[in-house]
Amino acid sequence: MIVQFCTIVAIMDLSSRVFELISKMVIWGVCGGEAAAHTPKPLIFETSVLDLSTLSEQGGQWMKTAEEARNQGVHGGFTRDGLRIGVYVCHCGTNIAGVVDVDATAQYAAQLDGVVVARHYAYMCSDPGQALIKEDIRAEGLNRIVVASCSPLMHEATFRRACAEGGLNPYLFQMTNIREHCSWVSDDPHAATQKAMALVGAAVRRVALQEPLEMRQVGVQQAALVVGGGIAGIEAALRMADAGKHVYLVERQPSIGGHMAQLYKTFPTLDCAA
Ligand code: SF4
Repeated sequence: MIVQFCTIVAIMDLSSRVFELISKMVIWGVCGGEAAAHTPKPLIFETSVLDLSTLSEQGGQWMKTAEEARNQGVHGGFTRDGLRIGVYVCHCGTNIAGVVDVDATAQYAAQLDGVVVARHYAYMCSDPGQALIKEDIRAEGLNRIVVASCSPLMHEATFRRACAEGGLNPYLFQMTNIREHCSWVSDDPHAATQKAMALVGAAVRRVALQEPLEMRQVGVQQAALVVGGGIAGIEAALRMADAGKHVYLVERQPSIGGHMAQLYKTFPTLDCAA
């Protein structure tokens, strides 16, 4: 591939504030791409990121919190006229249902203000599971959907698509994670169920506030800005140039190369660094 490398811009007096802002933009972009590349791993954790013993001891408190959320949150002014919310609690086989009481969680959801349908089902991401959502949107006139299942990284797009296919704006959907955040990190069914209820209650209150959004497509210039002409900056610029991007490499010194350009020879080959 022909390397379309890059315009080198030497900027002597670019203020540190501008450098800081540009650096934050670049770092944000890199981190976002990195995170998006990772998918959740189907691991059963031996220990919890939560203090499970504390969670277990405070099981009653979780229930109280869930009740308070229902009584003070949903009934306390968050609802608006016309809300018709459907809540779907996924079993994920025994991944969730083996620990969380999915029937009790669905019954809890059914009492929440604005909820007109609350179901639990074996595999919500399966075709029959998605069909449940689509049919209920049409038959029950649902205008908000909550799915309590796994990580949104795994299936948020799946359920948004199901909502759209059912005739609902896909952004009137909220997913809450009762697998990685409840059943996979607890062997206490009582505490896990209470936390699942609290998460479902929060998701119902949140989805009640969501607005329909419309997607737009905008043209993106296939170009990148690399700040710093040291070895890392040069390498990053070359890689993007190899990928066909037009790259702007910004260096405040008169020449590129960074610290490496100041060295005579490098270990272990003793090649000339410059
Ligand atoms: S939606 Fe998620 S939690 Fe439910 S069956 Fe599919 S992978 Fe499992």
